[in-house]
Amino acid sequence: MRYTCEISERYQVDVLVVGGGPAGFSAAVAAARNGAKTLLIEQNSVLGGMATSGLVGPFMTCYDNDVTEQVVKGIFDELCLRTEARGGAIHPSKIRGMCGYNSYFLGSHEGVTPYQSEILATVMDEMVTEAGVQVLFGTRLADVRMDGERITHAIVLMKEGLAAIRAKCFIDCTGDADLAVRSGVPTWTGDRKTGVSQPASLFFEVGNVDREAYCAELEQRKDQLDNHMGNCYSWKVREAKANGDWDLDKNELGMYEQNIPGRWKVNTTRMSYVDATNTEQVSRAMMEGRRQVQEVLCFMRKYIPGCENVQLIQVAPSLGVRESRHIVGKYELTTDDVLHRKIFEDAICTFGYALDRHDSQGGGVTWTLVDRYYTIPYRSLLPENCSNLLVAGRCICGSSEAAASYRVMPACMATGQAAGTAAAIAVKQNVKPEEISVDLLRKTLVEQGAVIKEH
Ligand SMILES: Cc1cc2nc3c(=O)[nH]c(=O)nc-3n(C[C@H](O)[C@H](O)[C@H](O)COP(=O)(O)OP(=O)(O)OC[C@H]3O[C@@H](n4cnc5c(N)ncnc54)[C@H](O)[C@@H]3O)c2cc1C
Repeated sequence: MRYTCEISERYQVDVLVVGGGPAGFSAAVAAARNGAKTLLIEQNSVLGGMATSGLVGPFMTCYDNDVTEQVVKGIFDELCLRTEARGGAIHPSKIRGMCGYNSYFLGSHEGVTPYQSEILATVMDEMVTEAGVQVLFGTRLADVRMDGERITHAIVLMKEGLAAIRAKCFIDCTGDADLAVRSGVPTWTGDRKTGVSQPASLFFEVGNVDREAYCAELEQRKDQLDNHMGNCYSWKVREAKANGDWDLDKNELGMYEQNIPGRWKVNTTRMSYVDATNTEQVSRAMMEGRRQVQEVLCFMRKYIPGCENVQLIQVAPSLGVRESRHIVGKYELTTDDVLHRKIFEDAICTFGYALDRHDSQGGGVTWTLVDRYYTIPYRSLLPENCSNLLVAGRCICGSSEAAASYRVMPACMATGQAAGTAAAIAVKQNVKPEEISVDLLRKTLVEQGAVIKEH
């Protein structure tokens, strides 16, 4: 079928950011602060992506693996501090040892940031507004118009119908590389060999947890908990399995305390073999996730101390997607780079979170700690085949295994800040993102709070 129609060019901007998750939020703030006229479109009605509409949290560690140095700062740290000042977060410098805030495990779980999604969203609203970013909610990328390898317009679906947005530079922060794919950038999904992505999960929040009773048994068993695997109440899961009360593909309860008494985030549902770029599969996974939430609630009430009277507060409106497309870019970040403290000449940020691989079968997690920290090169944000596009967040160019580390939110915000800053520089100098001075980009990022480790 062929369908033709007239579309009006509604906006002309310097930088268009597609997707308002952790990466898109940071990219937009950075681009606007560095002088670009910036528009951010988001299909939902809230900024934050997984952090808000996915109810995911806390922010995983922003420290190095030894927990001695905070290696992600910049816009990420500003967001944490401002949310804390509003009573909606606890700064990561205050979270140490095994505790409810990190679901009683240590590896990469010290220096996390517990937050309340609703307050985080408000602070994000404030920060984009102050920076001068125009935000359009309920606006979904549908297609692009190209001139050779340059994107001239994003075609979007708004309440008013289809519209075109002209921009000089584009940043794909959709998590799924939607903009990149439509612009002709090659991508692959999940693991390169098998095509299988990490499983999806649906987060939910509960209230009325008796914290003391919940923590008492975990405190008693602290020595038996595996520091690096996260096996919180795994013995209760085994008991429930034996009794026929548990048929989920998950071996432990992932429960994260918030800074509101009795309110916890629960990360325990699991849907394997979901392709997050397939509408039918995502729809089925959402329904299966909601079914699993009810099962987990029954389990908690029956087996978990302190959860006898637990109440469901909310289930995430968006599916928790750990992995989908990866772009083919100028450099593919490898597992070796992540594990062996690789310092790139064109590094734009530093990160220290473990390789956190959720197996698609068997309910397990493989956990490999990094050697203090590693860096991410600017080239991993630059896609092949498209000259005015940058990519940030979980869909940058890296192997499935490497992404098991940098997919978490502090790193996504750091790559977002780098992409936004680079886009603003490219627009100012009227050059392609790949032609900007990387020294200038790195200098600007450091001046604006980013941590970039050098040799
Ligand atoms: C189950 C689960 C548990 C996790 N646990 C943690 C954790 O505890 N701590 C941590 O730090 N990280 C965690 N992560 C990882 C982290 O949440 C994500 O990897 C991270 O949010 C990715 O950021 P992003 O900005 O790249 O993408 P997203 O957060 O997915 O944001 C993408 C945004 O783009 C929008 N969008 C997508 N397509 C379009 C389109 N076509 N048009 C317009 N808008 C669009 C989406 O609505 C969304 O708002 C977890 C992830 C999952 C799934």
